[in-house]
Amino acid sequence: MTSKLFGRNAPTRLLVGWIPATMLDWPGKVATTLVVSGCEFRCPFCQNPRLLWEESGTADWDGFVEHVRAKRSWLDGVVVTGGEPTDDPDLPSLLAALAEEGVPAKLDTNGSRPDVLAFLLAEQLVDYVCLDVKATASRYRDATGREGVADAVAESIRLLVRSHVEHEFRTTVFPRSVALEELPAIASGLVGGRLYALQQFRPSAALGPGTAGVRPYCSADLRSAARRCASYLPTIVRGAA
Ligand code: SF4
Repeated sequence: MTSKLFGRNAPTRLLVGWIPATMLDWPGKVATTLVVSGCEFRCPFCQNPRLLWEESGTADWDGFVEHVRAKRSWLDGVVVTGGEPTDDPDLPSLLAALAEEGVPAKLDTNGSRPDVLAFLLAEQLVDYVCLDVKATASRYRDATGREGVADAVAESIRLLVRSHVEHEFRTTVFPRSVALEELPAIASGLVGGRLYALQQFRPSAALGPGTAGVRPYCSADLRSAARRCASYLPTIVRGAA
């Protein structure tokens, strides 16, 4: 079948790259990951600071299409990540192109645009959503560098919980943004969700000065917090030794 959308130029001008195959971005799946530039948050623990500013698409879209078609027999799907993909006005076209080819799609999002998420869910353009929950509502500004986004994220959480789409909520447990004792409070706002993943913070040279040296919580304490969160929804820990 010839796809109208796969036959055109890249349906998003903010697509800056793609990773041919990974088992890290969609749990249990072999996926190709598309990377979209631009994000209005400024999380101090962001591992992709070079993606925060929008760039014109530099990705090899034709190479991506060729790759997906050639590897379709073993490729489980495509992950769209960033940056923040829902900031890209062309995201629906990108996901429509994948859906038209019958390629399952996972979206990674910070939840700041519930209107976009509602549209994608209603149009059945996503098969899995990973929504980041950065902190408790009262600490969202400090955790993201943006005012007034906690309500938008809360609406995105409600949309996802009410949807029939597979999903997970994820908190990167950055000690300066989230106290261990706050995690159950965050989990209590996710009741009805499919999964809560506590992602261990990884100090990295990519982080800004003053952040790279922050020590993660010890793994045992993180697991203990996860057990308390599990009284609200299934909870796992990722990235802890
Ligand atoms: S929402 Fe994600 S991409 Fe944006 S600043 Fe935070 S960690 Fe980085």
